[in-house]
Amino acid sequence: MNRRKFLTFMGTAGVVSALGTAKVAEAGVHTFPYYDNGYGVLHDLTRCIGCRQCEAGCNRVNNLKKPDVPFTDVTVTHKRRRTTTTEWTVVNRYDLGNNEFVFRKIQCFHCNDPACASACFTKCYQKNPDGSVTYDDTQCVGCRYCMVACPFYIPTFEYEEAFDPIIQKCTFCHNRLEKGQLPGCVESCTMDALTFGRRKDLINIARKRIAENPDKYLDYIYGEHDAGGTAWMVLMPKPKGMPQIAPGNAAEAAPAMKKVGLDTHLGTQPMGELTYGALGTVPMIISFWPVIFGGAYGMTKRREAIAKANQEKAVAEERQKTLETVVQCIEKEQGKDAADKARAAMTAALDEQDAKAEKGGEDK
Ligand code: SF4
Ligand code: SF4
Ligand code: SF4
Repeated sequence: MNRRKFLTFMGTAGVVSALGTAKVAEAGVHTFPYYDNGYGVLHDLTRCIGCRQCEAGCNRVNNLKKPDVPFTDVTVTHKRRRTTTTEWTVVNRYDLGNNEFVFRKIQCFHCNDPACASACFTKCYQKNPDGSVTYDDTQCVGCRYCMVACPFYIPTFEYEEAFDPIIQKCTFCHNRLEKGQLPGCVESCTMDALTFGRRKDLINIARKRIAENPDKYLDYIYGEHDAGGTAWMVLMPKPKGMPQIAPGNAAEAAPAMKKVGLDTHLGTQPMGELTYGALGTVPMIISFWPVIFGGAYGMTKRREAIAKANQEKAVAEERQKTLETVVQCIEKEQGKDAADKARAAMTAALDEQDAKAEKGGEDK
């Protein structure tokens, strides 16, 4: 472990106790308490070489299944990969144009106000004082609403597990933090591309790097405010020939951020509030979401089995059938108005999910 990587990880043994007494900021509009002394990680894309050692580190410390393609094969980074149930982090290569390529590591962002947690009505998710967002499967009913809610498409579901499938995602190595150890990925990165520290210190570190190298970095810290702020943040190079943007200007940063698969249009409002609000408006959807997803899974399986030419029609029919079943149940119990409202909300949610899936890209 070197100094830069461990810059603000002040004395491993003291971490847990320090966090234990961390001041919890006023909840305010947050749906979760905001821990202003939590940890985070800054991924500096200018330092990342796409070596996949962070992937290997994650795999090792979490005892995950070995991947089909060994970690020494870096050509897989050329594909737009998503995280999976056994790959909690993946590194992909992005083309900035002008023969310039960068690598970005993908994992749970450990949002300050996690939409996954707001969406989970059985309270499987927890935002911890150390900054991590963890998931406990004991109450999980498999509705997968967290998957829909996450703006970064991170939680993955063990579809192939016949018994008790659960959600899998990066844990920020919460168990290691508790023991005063670094996350496995951070520990494995030999390029100092991943800096672990208190979130507020990381923001200062990022600002300093930008100030000292204004031609090198885009003046935008992804995750400082995006989606209400995230524990994991990204610093990217300013693409060659691009003029510098106004500091932290999301609209101006958008074209460059998009090149590395990051969306600056999520806004600064905590995503959890949006999810919570939506669920509050149409509470009956929560109860029926498992049914919808059951249908969605059936659709996926059927989609694989049928000829391509018939796919769209069959999927649309199957989806409508599932949706109408749910709407009928709601109408019976809560009346026509509630059923109409639920139909509109569910159709919009499924359309949005379809649109995102069709758009392609690794974050889908
Ligand atoms: S973050 Fe570090 S370990 Fe991971 S690919 Fe980049 S340089 Fe390699
Ligand atoms: S909303 Fe997504 S990125 Fe944010 S903490 Fe939850 S799983 Fe992670
Ligand atoms: S923090 Fe831990 S679980 Fe998350 S990507 Fe890094 S090694 Fe994997």
